[in-house]
Amino acid sequence: MHKLRDIPIKRKLVLTTMMTTTAALLVAGLGVVLVDLVLFRGYLRRDLSALARIVADNSTAALAFNDPDSAAQTLGALHARSHVVGACIYREDGSILASYSRQGSFACPQPDIQETIQTTSTGMVVSQAVVLGGQRMGTLMVLYDLGEIGERIRLYGSTVFVVLLASSLLALLLSSRLRSVIATPISQLVSATTSVSETGDYSIRARRLSGDELGVLVDRFNDMLEGIQSRDINLKSALADREAALREVERERERFHFMAESMPQKIFTAKPNGDVDYYNRQWLEFTGLSFEQIKDWGWAQFVHPDDLEENLAAWRHSIETGEPYHFDQRFRRADGKFRWHLSRAHAMHDADGNITMWIGSNTDIHEQKEKEEELRRANEDLQQFAYSASHDLQEPIRNVAVYSEILAKRYGDSLDDDAKQFLGFLQEGGRRLATLVNDLLAYTRASMAQISETTVDASAALKNTLSSLKEAIRESDATITYDELPDVYMGEAHLQQVFQNLIGNALKYRDDATPQIHVSAVRHGAMWRFSVRDNGIGIDPQYKERIFGIFKRLHHDRKYSGTGIGLAICQRVVERYGGRIWVESEPGNGATFFFTVPQHARPVRSATV
Ligand code: ADP
Repeated sequence: MHKLRDIPIKRKLVLTTMMTTTAALLVAGLGVVLVDLVLFRGYLRRDLSALARIVADNSTAALAFNDPDSAAQTLGALHARSHVVGACIYREDGSILASYSRQGSFACPQPDIQETIQTTSTGMVVSQAVVLGGQRMGTLMVLYDLGEIGERIRLYGSTVFVVLLASSLLALLLSSRLRSVIATPISQLVSATTSVSETGDYSIRARRLSGDELGVLVDRFNDMLEGIQSRDINLKSALADREAALREVERERERFHFMAESMPQKIFTAKPNGDVDYYNRQWLEFTGLSFEQIKDWGWAQFVHPDDLEENLAAWRHSIETGEPYHFDQRFRRADGKFRWHLSRAHAMHDADGNITMWIGSNTDIHEQKEKEEELRRANEDLQQFAYSASHDLQEPIRNVAVYSEILAKRYGDSLDDDAKQFLGFLQEGGRRLATLVNDLLAYTRASMAQISETTVDASAALKNTLSSLKEAIRESDATITYDELPDVYMGEAHLQQVFQNLIGNALKYRDDATPQIHVSAVRHGAMWRFSVRDNGIGIDPQYKERIFGIFKRLHHDRKYSGTGIGLAICQRVVERYGGRIWVESEPGNGATFFFTVPQHARPVRSATV
């Protein structure tokens, strides 16, 4: 059976047809033979019984006259039946009157007084009573061999065999002709499938040869091929597009590498997870290390140990958030010396906003850093000097003011007009000098003061400022309004200093109109942006940066007194907290000063020298 599964479908069809036909005919033939056998036995019994009765009826006279010759003659008629082996006629007392034997070897058996037909191993034995006028005269026994049944079986068997042979041949002939009806469309389908799988050509189609289920199968198969073909075409064109895009990416990469190699900066690229996958030549020359040694996160080995922790934190922060990476740090050169670099890296995104890579540059700023350091030290010295000078000058200036006052009081009347005027100049100069020195001291203090690590309620700071300015407010009849102000990350004294200068200026630089001043604050990311708006004389936009410089004033007439330090102090304070200050104004249209202050303490993002 297993082998049958693997033979070609054509042979399978012929074989199954033949086997089915043969099996059916065999069963039918055997059935016929068996039925005939059963029927024939019945027929034989009836036939023998009739024969025995005829012979018995013909034997009555011979028995009545006890005539053995006549009886033998009657029995001799049985010769016509070739399967009668022998027969005997018995008198009433059981003695044999006459017997018949076909081949002379027959011995009469014991007569059976019952009328029976028995089947024995030698054949069928018929016992028949001979009766005349209702009186039993004797008995007839006939032995019949069963050779006729054997002959019949042989005859039927050979007939069945011949019919079987003939019909099998016919079945073979017909199935060989008809198998093509089923096998050819299947072979067609198989050869189409084979060519598709061997050539990969999905334009091949199987031929529909019939309208039955096989025809439907061919149609479905062709539909399937069509679907695959169109998908194959789309796939091929998508693959071609992708290959073109990859070639373009490769060309871009080559262009980028060429550009990076020709730049003086140290350039690197990194994967979205921060693994560095490219360094330009300048890196390798600077560090004296191979790409294998510094790839991925291997760069950590040439970063200055003091900068490393903060650098790693900043780089990880950028990788997590996608924010640009900015950092000043020292890298170890091949000769072991560290040099300051300005490091930057930006993320490149795809159309969906995912980071595809990081591109970074590192510029050597060592000389610049050294100059900055020198400048910073010089600045510090200068500030220290300005602080000491303004501090130490306070005492002699106070003396000038006090003694010129005493001089005026005690000897004022005895002085002539010129001397009085000179004394007046002296007093005025002393006062101005005192203000200047005080402001200078305030400026240097603002520059040197420690940043306060606390938050302050800006509304409270403003109220305190207004209370210390109440004299000037009352005198100018100003209206000062303000919105609800937030808590900000700044020392209270510093915030008050900024409010004091800005509101003081708004009161001072007024025109004829009554001063209207408004203070408000709006959120800008992590910063609060404050504004102080007035309706005063305004500022020409060309001076809007200049006025924040120290000693820079736009008004030198007596109407607007001042030293030109107030706004410089404001700028110093605001910048120390990471904010900035600026002004928007038109002459005659008032001015609005803005400054930003952080909401919370800011994370430190860059190393300072
Ligand atoms: P001072 O007020 O002592 O001159 P500041 O540094 O406070 O010094 O101001 C610098 C200059 O900016 C002032 O001289 C003035 O010309 C200009 N200025 C400042 N505030 C205002 C304002 N609210 N309106 C018009 N001009 C102003």
